[in-house]
Amino acid sequence: MSFIAKCAHTNNEFDLDQDMAEEVDIVVVGSCMTDLVSQAPRLPKAGETIHGRKFFIGFGGKGANQCVQAARLGAKTAMVCKVGKDFFGTNYIQNFKDNAICTDFVTQTAEAMTGAASIIVNDAGENAIVIVAGANMLLGEEELEQARSTLAKAKVLLCQLEISSHISLQALRMARQSNVKTIFNPAPAIPDLHTDFYKESDVFCCNESEAELLTEARVASVDDAGRAGQELLKRGCAAVIITMGSEGCVVLQASNPNPKHIPTAKVTSVDTTGAGDSFMGALAFYMAHYPSMPLEEMSRRANLVAAVSVQSIGTQTSYPFKKDLGAELF
Ligand code: ATP
Repeated sequence: MSFIAKCAHTNNEFDLDQDMAEEVDIVVVGSCMTDLVSQAPRLPKAGETIHGRKFFIGFGGKGANQCVQAARLGAKTAMVCKVGKDFFGTNYIQNFKDNAICTDFVTQTAEAMTGAASIIVNDAGENAIVIVAGANMLLGEEELEQARSTLAKAKVLLCQLEISSHISLQALRMARQSNVKTIFNPAPAIPDLHTDFYKESDVFCCNESEAELLTEARVASVDDAGRAGQELLKRGCAAVIITMGSEGCVVLQASNPNPKHIPTAKVTSVDTTGAGDSFMGALAFYMAHYPSMPLEEMSRRANLVAAVSVQSIGTQTSYPFKKDLGAELF
């Protein structure tokens, strides 16, 4: 069965080859969250009700964000995740289809609601957020098993920590057993991360605060990131990338442990929400499509994709499509 036939999509931004085999390039095992965002003059106090100015619903969750960015660059992707049997879950599945993402391994459960983030943003740009992981935490071994043969044929697996950590680790192990490249994004970071997460990562990619939590050392400069990266490399990953916002990222490889700073474009940033996920999705795209490209060049290009995402508002709404980017990135 063709990829198109299996993975219906409705968005004509995509131009996938009808004759492609059913294999996907990238499998993401991770989270989906519906963002419920209220803009208000200030954050309410306990017990208080205030009027907000604007409300909107957005698609979020680290796994889904990363998958959407990779798909928009032209990768054939499949999402392995769990949503609730509710309006938000059904809506999210449609969002995957609209982004030409294979939904064969997206399951709905009646036992929990779709993951949600209730977000209040005040006029100063500060926010208060409650995240309920909901159905994300019910993604289990059975669903992962259903995706095994598709994963075994993929080029890249991408995982984070917004689902049960043992499922992420199991997915990484499954991928490695089939020689599928693994990218692990330890976000949100947890202290005492199981040592196998490092060993099962071809690329271990985190931001400064995650690197700080994992190494228990301050990461506030490129030099600090280099030192943190060397510590993470020692734990067994083949390569480490630490993203540093407007500073770009620092890349280290076991074969070349000298930290390399990869600067990004100087842009006017209006909203950096989800920039890290844009970077991760782009990195997965480059690893899947240009396997012999040096990691530093992939990181340079992923920086440039993420730099586009910070120039407009929102998370997935700010992620560029292939057609929005220069040919030099492909
Ligand atoms: P978030 O949590 O907001 O998704 P993050 O903290 O995980 O982001 P960052 O390190 O802030 O991730 O950003 C990821 C990448 O996005 C950076 O490596 C860089 O390529 C790009 N980026 C972020 N902020 C900017 C900026 N102000 N200008 C240019 N590029 C940026």
